[in-house]
Amino acid sequence: MSEAAQDVVVIGGGVVGLATALKLRMAGRDVLLIDRDEPARSTSYGNAGVLAVSDNYPLASFKRLLGAPGMLMNPRGPLRIRPNYLGRITPWLFRFALSAMPGARRAGFDAVKALNDRSVAAHRRLLDAVGRPELLVQKGMLVVARSAGGVKALEAESEPLRHAGSRVRLLDAAEVAALEPALAGRVAGGALQEDVAHVLDPYALARAYADAFLSAGGRIEQRQAIRIAPTDSGSEIDTDQAPWSRG
Ligand SMILES: Cc1cc2nc3c(=O)[nH]c(=O)nc-3n(C[C@H](O)[C@H](O)[C@H](O)COP(=O)(O)OP(=O)(O)OC[C@H]3O[C@@H](n4cnc5c(N)ncnc54)[C@H](O)[C@@H]3O)c2cc1C
Repeated sequence: MSEAAQDVVVIGGGVVGLATALKLRMAGRDVLLIDRDEPARSTSYGNAGVLAVSDNYPLASFKRLLGAPGMLMNPRGPLRIRPNYLGRITPWLFRFALSAMPGARRAGFDAVKALNDRSVAAHRRLLDAVGRPELLVQKGMLVVARSAGGVKALEAESEPLRHAGSRVRLLDAAEVAALEPALAGRVAGGALQEDVAHVLDPYALARAYADAFLSAGGRIEQRQAIRIAPTDSGSEIDTDQAPWSRG
């Protein structure tokens, strides 16, 4: 296997890798992006396109941990772990549980918030640069409840978001209907998270970043990264074709 030196190697051509690669290329770096498949065809192809910048709380929480056994036992639940994968994933699950501890959760919150606070403006700048600003809209996200109990739960859930600086407006049934006429008479209330933005077509956005990256002289190769190891001058990446070193 041959070895080549590369200024920057980005592994994975989803929206995260493509935006990173494009930004680095625009900053003048020599960038190679590798993907085991066609870029922009994985989850970035068809996610829901929500930039949920209001919600800065990390996934790991005691509430979620306590709910996990119930989810695992429910055949239609959202969480599934294959028994033969349990051994491999146990160290990760252990770290996930540790990150629900108050100190770690606070650090996680700060890290997520630092990213969220910048993400809409950062995508706007990139979309302006690639000529597709219309792909991003910021009209908020409406969460609705059907019952008075649900409205109470929404109020409780909105409080920590507001406390953390997000704009959340509680709406009664008439205000929800004014925003979304199709919901008239069907909901008891709602919460509008006003900072949330949406990407109208996630694949178009990822593809626009990929095309701009290639036009700017970036390179994309189909390879699977198998191992990454730090070296004195950077790191070495083994791929299914040949190792790469990153300086
Ligand atoms: C149904 C659904 C809806 C979602 N909705 C939202 C949403 O509304 N908002 C939101 O923020 N998030 C949402 N997500 C999460 C979403 O997946 C991410 O936000 C986003 O698309 C992830 O982008 P990514 O670049 O990290 O990963 P991906 O788009 O999955 O890209 C990863 C890329 O890495 C490549 N790859 C992986 N391993 C290797 C390797 N070893 N070597 C080389 N290449 C490799 C893959 O082929 C792939 O192209 C949703 C997810 C799902 C499943």
